[in-house]
Amino acid sequence: MPSLRAVLFDLDGVLTPTAELHMHAWRDLFSPWCVAHGAAPYADADYFDHIDGKPRYAGVADFLASRGTHLPWGDPADPPGEDTVCALGNKKDQVVNRIFAEEGIEPYPGSVRFLDAVTAAGAAVAVVSSSKNAPGVLAAAGLAHRFEVLVDGNVAARDGIAGKPAPDTYVRAAEILGVPVSRSVVVEDAVSGVQAGRAGDFGLVIGVDRGTGEGSLLDAGADLVVGDLGELDASVLDGGHVSGRGHQTGRGHQTGRGHQGEGA
Ligand SMILES: [Mg+2]
Repeated sequence: MPSLRAVLFDLDGVLTPTAELHMHAWRDLFSPWCVAHGAAPYADADYFDHIDGKPRYAGVADFLASRGTHLPWGDPADPPGEDTVCALGNKKDQVVNRIFAEEGIEPYPGSVRFLDAVTAAGAAVAVVSSSKNAPGVLAAAGLAHRFEVLVDGNVAARDGIAGKPAPDTYVRAAEILGVPVSRSVVVEDAVSGVQAGRAGDFGLVIGVDRGTGEGSLLDAGADLVVGDLGELDASVLDGGHVSGRGHQTGRGHQTGRGHQGEGA
């Protein structure tokens, strides 16, 4: 049995290329909002700095705060609109769901190969996503049957679990799988998600750089960063990091944990 016995995957941007889609939907929401409110123009850096990986409404609130705006929180049942944080989040969700329905979702082939490898090696696997769309995304990508445990935005809201960058959703998934966090791997593409893995003291935190930047992921506490999970195989479960090429840098296990700045 490998020393690391569970692999906890983020969904959007790790298993499926839906981070890009979410990025577009946020741009569609906030670009006109910034113009209408005379705020500094929306840029994709805003997505990585304020939104990526967080629960939807927290992303709305944090982006608005970056422009010095604070709206009432509202209620998740608010119709799509711009009066409350929840209404703005629901407006963005409307765009996302339309794109899912129109275009379908193909998982990253390298991620599926890595999933195959760690599953064959005996690791338990779970999906840990801030998204409330996670069940639909997993089903559309043909991956639903590969994961017995899903801790998503619906579970977090139902059980009152703090979202990323808090470690709690990842910790819950490890608990359900019955594997200690020290023996569990977190796989994340977002700074907030990597911070969650680091804050939870997981055995290994793998950053997947889909545009966030290797340096940002390492600074957030990733043990290693790859451009695609296809660069890895099941040897990561025994501390072997990268098969073949790859851009592992910086803090490997041998460098120890170090002391991160204030992560979350
Ligand atoms: Mg992600």
